[in-house]
Formats: sequence, C-alpha cells, structure tokens
Amino acid sequence: MDVDSSKKFSPSKLKEYQICPRRYAFHYIEKVPREGTSVEALLGVCVHAALESLYKNLQNGRLLTLAELLGAYDAEWEKRWKSEKVVIHEPGLSGEHYRGVGRDAISLYDAAHRPFDADKTVAVECRVGFPLEAGGESYRIEGFVDRLALAPDGAFEIHDYKTGRSLPEQADLDEDWQLALYDAAVRHAWPDTKAVRLRWHYLRFGKTLSVAKTDSQLSALKKDVAEFILKIKSDRRFDPEKNALCPRCEYRAICPLFKHAEEISRMPAAQARLEEGSLLVDRLADVVARKKDAKAALKGMEEEERALEAELLLYAGSRRLLAVQGRRGHVTVSEKEEIHLPTKTNSPENHDRMEEELKASPLWPRVSKLDGHRLVEGLKEGNWDEPSKRLVEELLLRYATRETTRILRFHPVKQEAEE
Ligand code: SF4
Repeated sequence: MDVDSSKKFSPSKLKEYQICPRRYAFHYIEKVPREGTSVEALLGVCVHAALESLYKNLQNGRLLTLAELLGAYDAEWEKRWKSEKVVIHEPGLSGEHYRGVGRDAISLYDAAHRPFDADKTVAVECRVGFPLEAGGESYRIEGFVDRLALAPDGAFEIHDYKTGRSLPEQADLDEDWQLALYDAAVRHAWPDTKAVRLRWHYLRFGKTLSVAKTDSQLSALKKDVAEFILKIKSDRRFDPEKNALCPRCEYRAICPLFKHAEEISRMPAAQARLEEGSLLVDRLADVVARKKDAKAALKGMEEEERALEAELLLYAGSRRLLAVQGRRGHVTVSEKEEIHLPTKTNSPENHDRMEEELKASPLWPRVSKLDGHRLVEGLKEGNWDEPSKRLVEELLLRYATRETTRILRFHPVKQEAEE
C-alpha cells in the first residue's frame, strides 16, 4: 500500500479519512477516477454555483431576482446533467425530483435573506489556509470557504451551504472541524481579527446554525488535527470502514467490501449462481443452517435424556435397584454424598461461629482457616487423630448440611461386549 505523501490537508480531506480510510486512499493517494457523480453531489454543486453567482453579482452592485437566481441554478444543472454521468441511488426518484429539491432550497434561502444586505461579502468560494506542525514536519491546512463576510459589528462570518437531507444537532456542529479550521485560517490571514462566527445554512430546512470558537478551542483543535495527520501518515493499510455513505460511494465497484457483490449484481442470474465465491458462500450458509438445526435437535435430545434419567431414578428408587436392564444396554445407579459447609455468603453467622470453634481447637494450625474441603477430605481419608476426628464430626453435625446425589450411568450393549 502506498504511503500518503500529502503535505496539504483540507477539512474535507481529513473528514474523508475519518469516514473511511479506504475511500480516502482511493481518492487522495491512488487518485482513482470516481465512477459517476451522485445526484446529491450534483444538487450541491449547482446550488453552490447559483449562490456564488448571487453574491458575486452583489459584490458588483447588482442584486439578482429570484427568477435569475433559479435560472443560474437551472443552467448549471442542465450543463452538468448533460456532461456528467449522474447516478441516482434512491429507487423511484428522478433527476427532476432532485432538481426541484435544489430550487426549493434556493427559494427558502432567498425568502429568508433577500435583499442580502445583512453583511458585506468579502469573498466567495475563497481559498483560506494556515501552516501546521505535526511530528516535526510542516503541513498546510487549506480549503475553500463558500462565503466570507463582514458583519456590521466587525466580526468575520464564515458561511457554509449544506444541501443534505438531515439537520444536525447543535452539539454536532460544536464539534465540527471544517468551519473551525476555516476560522483558524481567517485569524491567520487577519491577525487583528476580534471575532469570527461560523454559520451553516441548512438550505432544505431554511435553517441557519451558528457557532463561535474561543482561542483555546482553536488551539486544542489544531493539536487534534496535528495528531490526526500523524495517524493518516502512519497508516499502511487504509482499511475500508462500512458507513452510511457506502450505498452512494463512487468506489463501490473496487472497494474490497463491496467489489464482489457489485460483480455478482452485474452478472446474469444463472452465471451469478455458479460463480465460485458465491457457491462457496451458499455452501457455507447451508452448513451453518444445518448446524443450527442440529444444535436445536441436540438441545431437545438433552432435555429428553434428563427426563428419562429422572424417570429411571424414580423407577430404580421405588424398587431399590442399583441397575436396570434394557435390550440395548443397562443403567447403573450409584450414590454420592456431598457435604455442604456454611460459607460467608450463604450462611455467614454459622460460618463465623464454626470458624471461631475451630480456632479454639488444636485443629486450627492444620487448617489455618475454615477450609471445608480439607476438613471433609481429612475425615474421609482418616487423616485426623481420634480427638480431631470427633471434633470434626461434631462440627459437621452442627453446621453442615448433607445432600445425597444419585448418579445414573448408561452402559450400552456394545460397551458391555468390549468389557
Ligand atoms: S464503499 Fe464504503 S467502505 Fe468502500 S470505500 Fe466506499 S465508503 Fe469506504
């Protein structure tokens, strides 16, 4: 995998890596031409072009009418619709639908801001940037501001037009890098800048959201961006990251995550069914399904086994038998006695009392704590002298509960023959 030799990073470039490192590598390292233009991207470019025309005309003292503004939008749309391969991913929606969405967005913006005299436009689609050190290397952060304006109170305002179909929460914008980096660039270009406001225009909603950054927030952001650049620089894999953009990604056909599905989707159905990878996946799906069925069947058989064992124990118990004979084998019944001592959890008072009594006895140095297992094993194996044995027996009598478990074992005929 090529390493990234970039010395220049735009906010959108950084964001692309954030969203998907593989997409970033296709775009900025391997420079793979994108396959077509998504209709959403076309809509965004055309709306931006119309608003650029509006504010450039305003800078020259001419205010476009709404009809002229929409005319500029339509002209850009028609030019690009003819020259670019536009891809519509949303089934059932046409190019005309999207063109209408753009027209509505411009009309909303026009209604809210006409006659566009709330500020003075400094520049439209202007390049801004600043130098940034990361890991001892010099980089440049650079990008294009949709519109830079001076408000009546002397503050710079950075305007950004959004044509997406979702409206972010204020908290998302508070964390947004893009306009904050433009803020840093404006302060770099005009060091006497007193205040900068960041303004996002969500055109489909006719809604404008604002953020103002402090100097310390911008310093922290620069530090984060420097670290992020080092992360990109150290990446040697550029793994794909599945995300909401994937269905519309221009690199789907070559992305390792979707390449095969794309190939299969383009094949005739009969050929797709016989494709080697597809066949292997289908066989695996079959095995996984059978395994699932077998697991369910096994669970059922285990339940049946437990029920039969319980019935056999009852039968053997009622007839005082220790073995029951069948045609295909026999079962034996044995008994195991388990002694349960009080524990700190299930019976703390008895536990403490028993421990106190043990401490006061000559046994304590040999057990050093209430070790029920050692006590019981010692008794069973005859490890204790007579007085100790009696003491343990008394303690067990007073504090322990006894439980007898009956164990049933099945011996198939084959096993008997082998024996
Ligand atoms: S399709 Fe998705 S995972 Fe693949 S490159 Fe594009 S964005 Fe990344």
